Amino acid sequence: MSDLLERLRGRGWRMTAQRRVVAEVLDGDHVHLTADEVHARAAQRLPEISRATVYNTLGEMVSLGEVIEVATDHRAKRYDPNAHHPHQHLVCANCGAVRDVRPAGDPLKDLPADERFGYTVSDVEITYRGLCPDCASA
Ligand SMILES: [Zn+2]
Ligand SMILES: [Zn+2]
Repeated sequence: MSDLLERLRGRGWRMTAQRRVVAEVLDGDHVHLTADEVHARAAQRLPEISRATVYNTLGEMVSLGEVIEVATDHRAKRYDPNAHHPHQHLVCANCGAVRDVRPAGDPLKDLPADERFGYTVSDVEITYRGLCPDCASA
């Protein structure tokens, strides 16, 4: 289980009611929500929360390094609380469900020297695509 709230508290982040709701909505495993999805879920708990507050709060979490932004497909950017365990994404091409996955090798180290073109390579982002079990059986 993710521990986003505890991590944010540990960073000395001032926890208001609105920030708490955003953090609670985003907490958990395999969570990858767009800002609009976070806003819709947060508004169910705190109807007065504005879209601007949600966007600002997400931006602060990203700045703190406790949430990462991921682009798994051509849809809107998603927010991911799994910020401290390097992982890649497995995406259902039909419904968009996203899983955190870890390839057996190290994709950063596995890029051969002659494929680096002199770059200092610091990060890698891989998206595996397919059909989730529900979509495959539908
Ligand atoms: Zn699916
Ligand atoms: Zn993820």
